Amino acid sequence: MTRTALILGAGMVGVSCALALQKRGIAVTLIDRKEPGRETSYGNAGVLASSSILPLNNPSLYAKITDYLGNRHPALNLSWRRALARPGWLLRFLWEARPSQAPARIAALASLTASTVERHRALMNEAGVAHRLRETGTLKLWRTEAGHAAAQAEHDFLKRHGIKSQLLDRQGLSAVEPSLNPIFPVALLIPCVGSVDSPGAVTAAYAALFAGRGGHIVQAAITGLARHGAGWRANTAKGSFDADIAVVALGPWSGDLLKPLGLDPWLDVERGYHRHLKPGAGTRLSRPVYDVDGAYYMAPMERGFRITSGVDLAFRDAPDDHRQIDSATASAREAFALGEVVGETWRGARPTLPDSLPMIGEAPRNPGLWLAFGNQHIGFSTGPITGEMIAAMVCGETPPADPKPFRPERYIS
Ligand SMILES: Cc1cc2nc3c(=O)[nH]c(=O)nc-3n(C[C@H](O)[C@H](O)[C@H](O)COP(=O)(O)OP(=O)(O)OC[C@H]3O[C@@H](n4cnc5c(N)ncnc54)[C@H](O)[C@@H]3O)c2cc1C
Repeated sequence: MTRTALILGAGMVGVSCALALQKRGIAVTLIDRKEPGRETSYGNAGVLASSSILPLNNPSLYAKITDYLGNRHPALNLSWRRALARPGWLLRFLWEARPSQAPARIAALASLTASTVERHRALMNEAGVAHRLRETGTLKLWRTEAGHAAAQAEHDFLKRHGIKSQLLDRQGLSAVEPSLNPIFPVALLIPCVGSVDSPGAVTAAYAALFAGRGGHIVQAAITGLARHGAGWRANTAKGSFDADIAVVALGPWSGDLLKPLGLDPWLDVERGYHRHLKPGAGTRLSRPVYDVDGAYYMAPMERGFRITSGVDLAFRDAPDDHRQIDSATASAREAFALGEVVGETWRGARPTLPDSLPMIGEAPRNPGLWLAFGNQHIGFSTGPITGEMIAAMVCGETPPADPKPFRPERYIS
């Protein structure tokens, strides 16, 4: 029986694992080199993505591939040095986009995302931060008449999967978001999607809830992980910590501690940036909007309007490349009256596996070592269900979603 657990990483995924295990009576130690929620879970767009059921690498990717590989679309900036350093990963990512794979992956993502808003609403109430939740949906915006067909196709796709959305013309859009300049002839409103005004503060509030319930948080860099008797030991800058089980929830850094154990999880990263701008006089925004042609999200946040960029496929630790966020900022200024930039541009990295599904389960050949990472573009949304799945499996309960699509064995032999 599991009595003690170490959670490595205090992003949304790790904090959620900690809360879910604690709820089952397990004594949990949560370790991070920073304060909880200061990395990827801090800088995202704060969208609670209950309609994000189409994997990023879906069959439509093949039609756009020449634009993408030629760096002609703001959604992607591909570093060829990085691609050629690990060609197998990129080929596998492209191979997973084939049509035969789509239905199972859509079903898997739907099983993770359906309860997103409900789970966060419950946690935000418990953590006393319900005021940070908005249940006003999200908007996708298209700049050209060609967007009509794309918007209709997405509306029909969502409908087939039981998700309501509403097509809007220029006038309808202006009624929903009056501050938008009239440059978008078509939009899709997806009401079931939620959002928060500070993802970092929400993650920190969940961690405070865990600590308030007796959880132990250690701020220290983890330097190694090893089997210790029947359990696991994490070595840190502040000494060693032992427990019956360990959960690796280190987001984009998860591979770093696993490789010395002979476990290479095929994890890579999709970097992304954010920047805050002051709204112009009288400019209001009630929900996050995604400008399809400009390839950015704009979300109203505590610090101003946060613009998040597309995917920068470069080495995780390479220097910043601001071309995409600069282009997104220029596009956003066409859409809204915006004031000056607030603070610094932030960079993070979405942890990604080639099939765009996270890894949730026990590591092969390593009893008691659990893996919870690779939540890609929707890890802030799907952290809570990931935590519940890990805790249920640790305790021999039926998890809230079928864990098979997320089993570590698919990328660790
Ligand atoms: C630009 C951008 C926009 C996004 N928008 C959204 C969105 O709108 N909605 C959504 O759901 N998702 C979004 N995402 C994705 C989401 O942010 C991530 O999937 C999610 O935050 C991953 O959470 P995590 O807990 O796995 O990782 P993290 O939040 O990165 O947590 C990992 C933790 O591990 C710690 N760590 C790493 N190595 C060590 C070590 N050696 N010792 C100690 N600690 C260590 C780090 O300090 C960090 O706190 C976005 C991502 C980006 C980059």
